[in-house]
Order: sequence, then structure tokens, then C-alpha cells
Amino acid sequence: MHSRQFTTEASAVPGTDRPSLFDVIIAGCGPTGAMLAAELRLHDVRVLVLEKDTEPTSFARIVGLHVRSIELMAMRGLLERVRERGRQRPAGGFFAAIDKPAPEGLDTAHAYLLGIPQPVIVGLLEEHAIALGARVRRGAAVAGVTQDEEGVTVELADGERVRARYLVGCDGGRSTVRKLLGVGFPGESRGPRR
Ligand SMILES: Cc1cc2nc3c(=O)[nH]c(=O)nc-3n(C[C@H](O)[C@H](O)[C@H](O)COP(=O)(O)OP(=O)(O)OC[C@H]3O[C@@H](n4cnc5c(N)ncnc54)[C@H](O)[C@@H]3O)c2cc1C
Repeated sequence: MHSRQFTTEASAVPGTDRPSLFDVIIAGCGPTGAMLAAELRLHDVRVLVLEKDTEPTSFARIVGLHVRSIELMAMRGLLERVRERGRQRPAGGFFAAIDKPAPEGLDTAHAYLLGIPQPVIVGLLEEHAIALGARVRRGAAVAGVTQDEEGVTVELADGERVRARYLVGCDGGRSTVRKLLGVGFPGESRGPRR
């Protein structure tokens, strides 16, 4: 993808010759959406992130970063900031009450875990994306999507419409975008149905 070409091809708002302000709308500002927004900004893509929650979730599923995630933080110059807010632990430990011995001979400069709660890592990634020029709107829930040949119109829960060339669903396991597009999520779950 060449970013310049991408930007000049941004779709018009339907019924007008007004160009849309964004190339890509990302639904969801969890770790995936925030990181994707930052990566797209590195390619000069104009990004709007729509997040339904007004604050990063206080419910922490992520309690630590694993080796590959730590490597990626280092590659993007974020590791010091993550380390300041996290706690270094030996690799290994346990998962779901099962002992998980530390792997030996890992080919990495970061053979450890970093304990850091999800709201903190999401906050850091969101700040990083904004610093690179992404626009993040919190309290903006994606509720509807229509596509045409030029792009996509996203309807928010309050009825506002925003337009871009592409929409990326980073809105989690119960993804509204996935459901709106009729994309299945086959598999079995012992918990509540998604
Ligand atoms: C029990 C458990 C423990 C875990 N522990 C770890 C761990 O220790 N370390 C680790 O790295 N990973 C861990 N994971 C995995 C980790 O939680 C996920 O990989 C990560 O949260 C996925 O991020 P995401 O951004 O794709 O989705 P999510 O974190 O689910 O974020 C989705 C975002 O989209 C928003 N959203 C939803 N619907 C809409 C909408 N309609 N419009 C706008 N926004 C919307 C949500 O508010 C949310 O902010 C764990 C997962 C589970 C279930």
C-alpha cells in the first residue's frame, strides 16, 4: 500500500463532493485498535478510532505482556514507558492453574514477562497513536455500517455518520462490526453465546 495514493483516493461523502476526512475508521480502541492506528499513522494514513467506552476499561484481562509483545514495544520505542509502569517477571509461570516452565534458549533480548494491567497498556498505546496523529473519539459506539464502491459509512449509536474508505473491526470478541457484516464466529463456547 502506498500511503499517498491511499490518501488521494479517499472517498467522497455520498451526495456531496466533499472528501471524507479519514482513510480508515477503526472500531474499538483496545490494544489491537490502538496499535493498528499507530501503525497506519507511520504510513501517513488518516485514521479515526471510534471507541464506545469513555475511558480505557477498568476490567483487566491482560495482566502481562509476553516476549513477542515486549519485542514489538521495543521496536516502536515504547518499551521504557511500558517498563516504568510494569513489573518484570521471569518467563514461564502458570496459565489457567497449569504450570508453564520458562522456555529455554529463547532467541530474544527480552526473555521475560512484563506485568502490566490492561487499562495501562491501552492508555499507553492510545497516547502513542494520538501522538502520531491518529484521532481517537471515545464514547462513540459503532452501530451501523453501509458500504458502496467508494468506501464505507459508519453510523454511531447517536445517529451521527462518519465516512472513510475502509472500516476495520477491532471491537473485540463480541464485535459489532463482525455481526453487522454477517461474518460468522464458528466454534464452541461453554460461556454465554457471543
Ligand atoms: C481471561 C483472559 C486473560 C487474558 N490475559 C492476557 C494476558 O495476560 N496478556 C495478554 O497479552 N493477553 C491476554 N488476554 C488476551 C487479551 O485480552 C486480548 O488479546 C486483547 O484484549 C485483544 O484486544 P482487542 O483490542 O482485539 O480487543 P478488546 O480488548 O476486546 O478491545 C475491543 C475494544 O472495542 C470496543 N468496542 C466494542 N464494541 C464497540 C463498538 N460497537 N463501537 C466502538 N467500540 C467498541 C471495546 O470497548 C474495547 O475497548 C487475555 C484474554 C482473556 C479472555
